[in-house]
Amino acid sequence: MKNQTKAIDTPFGKSDVYGSLSMPVYHTAAYEFETAADMADAFTGRVIAPDYSRVMNPTVMYLEDKVKAITGASNVVAMSSGMAAISNTLMALAAAGKNIVTSRHMFGNTFALITDSLKRFGVEPRLCNLLDIDEVKSRMDENTCCIFLEIITNPQMEVADLKALAALAHEYNVPLVADTTVIPFTQFSAKELGVDIEVVSSTKYLSGGATTLGGLIMDYGTTRGFGQRIKNEMLFNFGAYMTPHVAYMQSLGLETLDARYRVQSQNTLYLAKKLCTLPQIKKVNYVGLEDNPYHAMAEKQFGKTAGAMMTIDLESKEACFAMINNLKLVRRATNLFDNKTLAIHPASTIFGNFSDQERAAMDVLDTTVRLSIGLEDMDDVFEDICQALGRQVDE
Ligand SMILES: *Cc1c(COP(=O)(O)O)cnc(C)c1O
Repeated sequence: MKNQTKAIDTPFGKSDVYGSLSMPVYHTAAYEFETAADMADAFTGRVIAPDYSRVMNPTVMYLEDKVKAITGASNVVAMSSGMAAISNTLMALAAAGKNIVTSRHMFGNTFALITDSLKRFGVEPRLCNLLDIDEVKSRMDENTCCIFLEIITNPQMEVADLKALAALAHEYNVPLVADTTVIPFTQFSAKELGVDIEVVSSTKYLSGGATTLGGLIMDYGTTRGFGQRIKNEMLFNFGAYMTPHVAYMQSLGLETLDARYRVQSQNTLYLAKKLCTLPQIKKVNYVGLEDNPYHAMAEKQFGKTAGAMMTIDLESKEACFAMINNLKLVRRATNLFDNKTLAIHPASTIFGNFSDQERAAMDVLDTTVRLSIGLEDMDDVFEDICQALGRQVDE
C-alpha cells in the first residue's frame, strides 16, 4: 500500500466491538484485567496490552501504528509535544559526561534544551557547522552520544547532508537524530537517508489546522536499547505520553495531510516566486527556489516539494515590525503549517530571550520575517503582503 492509503486504512490493533468506523477515543486512565496473571503479563511487557494511559492507550497506539506503517520505523511513540519528543529522546541517549554534537541553527527551545537544561545535568553541547563534515568529525569523541540536527533549519533554512552525517555518526557507533518537522514524513524516507531516530512536532503538519500539540519519536531500530528505554523508562518516569483526544485529532489530521501538504507546498513556491519581484524584500529564503544554495541538496533528500515555510529579509527590524503590523489577512502568530498563513518576527519572539551576541552566533537576523503558508488563495495573501509593505499590487 502507498503512504496515503496507509494514512487512512491502517487497521485497528483490535476490531471495535461496535464496528466503529473511526478509532474511538479511549478516554480512560486505566484498564481492567480478567486475572492477576493477565495483569502481571501486561505490566511486565510479556503481553502487549494497555495497563495505564501514561504508557499505552489504544487511540494513541492507533496513531503510532499508522506512522509506523508509513515510515517503516520499528517503534513509534507519540508524545505530548514536539519538545517532549525531543527532550525524551535526548535524555534517553545522553548521560552526565556525554556530549551532543549539533548546530547553532535550530528551534529556540531545542537550542535552550541542549545548551541550558541538559548542560545542567552534565551533558556537554558541542556546537559546530554541520555543513562542514571535517569540523563535525573534529568534535566527535568516545563520549559523543549522538549527532542532532534539523533537516531544514529555521529561520536560516540550512540543509545538511544527512547521508554524510549518518556515515560519520555510525563510524562512532552513535545515532543520527533528526528533527524532520518541516517536511512531512509521508514525502521522504528519513530511514533511507541514514537517520536512526526521527523526531517530529506533530503540532505542525499532522494536527491539521493547528488543533492540538503533539510529538512523535520514530525509532528505526538501529540504536541498541533505545526503543526499550523510551517505552520502559522515559514514558514511565517522565510521563509525557500523548493523550487520547489529541491522538484522535492527529490521526484524523494524518488522513488529510497529503492533500493539504500538496496545496500548501505549491502555494509556498508560487508565493515565494511572486515575493522575489518586490523591491522592499531584500531576499526570499525558500529551498524550493532554484537559486537557493540548498535547493539541490533539499531536492535530492526530500523530493520535489520544499515545505510550506519561508523567510523574507527586509531593510530593518522596523520595516519587519511595520509589515507585520499592517497585515490584514495573514495572521500574526507563531506555529507552522496551520491552514492559515502566519507571520512572525523570530528574533524578537522565538529567539527574544537570547542576547544579541547569541542571536548573532545563531544567524537569527533582526531583519527576518518568517512566513508559514496556509491554504488560502495565494493571490489574496500576496496582495495583503504588498499592502503591508506599503505597495499597490501591479495588475
Ligand atoms: C515547533 C517545533 C518544535 C517544537 O514542537 P512543539 O510541538 O511546539 O513542542 C520543534 N522543532 C521544530 C523544527 C519545530 O518547528
